[in-house]
Amino acid sequence: MPNTAAKKLEVKLRTGFLINTGFAIFELAAGIVSGSLALISDASHNFTDSLSLTVSYVAQRFARKKATPEHTYGYGKATIIAAFINSLILLLAALFIFYEAYQRVIHPQTVSGGWIMAVAGVGIAVNASVALLFIKDRYDLNIKSAFLNMAFDVLASVGALAAGLVIYLTGKTIADPIISAMIGIFLVVSSYRVMDEALHILLEGVPKALDVKEVEKLIKSDPRIRNVHDLHVWTIAANVTGLVCHIVPNEFDAIKNIQITKELKRNLRDRFNINHATIEVEAEECPPHEH
Ligand SMILES: [Zn+2]
Ligand SMILES: [Zn+2]
Repeated sequence: MPNTAAKKLEVKLRTGFLINTGFAIFELAAGIVSGSLALISDASHNFTDSLSLTVSYVAQRFARKKATPEHTYGYGKATIIAAFINSLILLLAALFIFYEAYQRVIHPQTVSGGWIMAVAGVGIAVNASVALLFIKDRYDLNIKSAFLNMAFDVLASVGALAAGLVIYLTGKTIADPIISAMIGIFLVVSSYRVMDEALHILLEGVPKALDVKEVEKLIKSDPRIRNVHDLHVWTIAANVTGLVCHIVPNEFDAIKNIQITKELKRNLRDRFNINHATIEVEAEECPPHEH
């Protein structure tokens, strides 16, 4: 990623952190005063968001570091680790919401619907403005995890608003834990998706937007190439896709080999956005090995 783009993301993460933390403090106070679980659980979730925005920010800075003799690919995967940590934080937040909702079902308490609605209204505005900061940068898994957190806060605030309205109109305080639990379920699903994607990348999985069979087909479509094997495709860092393979040309000629690999690399970049390809040309197919 170019340095200016990376720095822009850092500014956005910092701005999001300040807005989010300020609101979380306000919401916690309002939750304690009104006695609303939806508000207190949402405030604690907002604090975990501040934590995960911090994780994303630190990773983003780290990823910008240049490659070193010890880390020849640089530190790009730091943002993927951040996304994984964030998905764990989100899962824990969901567990906490379920626990609190359960407690409220067993021990119902009186809450003020008016209070909940007022703070939820502010929450929708605050969280939506932070989510919008990240909406265009979701191609980056780290930013996607930050975006998801904030988008869920919007949903949680909408839920709190609905709970407040139901309590205000009917006095049925059970609406509070029911809506909290529903938000918890959404949270589990979305954090699982981020976790799955992060683990996939950390385990050198083929990028999900890409089918390795199609890559093989493209290589084989060149009539000058007789055989391709030992094909590996993986994510080196956000927006850096690596590929290695061996090819056996029909006719082994040093000058033509250079031309073939040059064209192949260009096609791989154009079609699949593979921007770090290493292609070994063999006169004979090498003996098979394990991976
Ligand atoms: Zn291999
Ligand atoms: Zn080979």
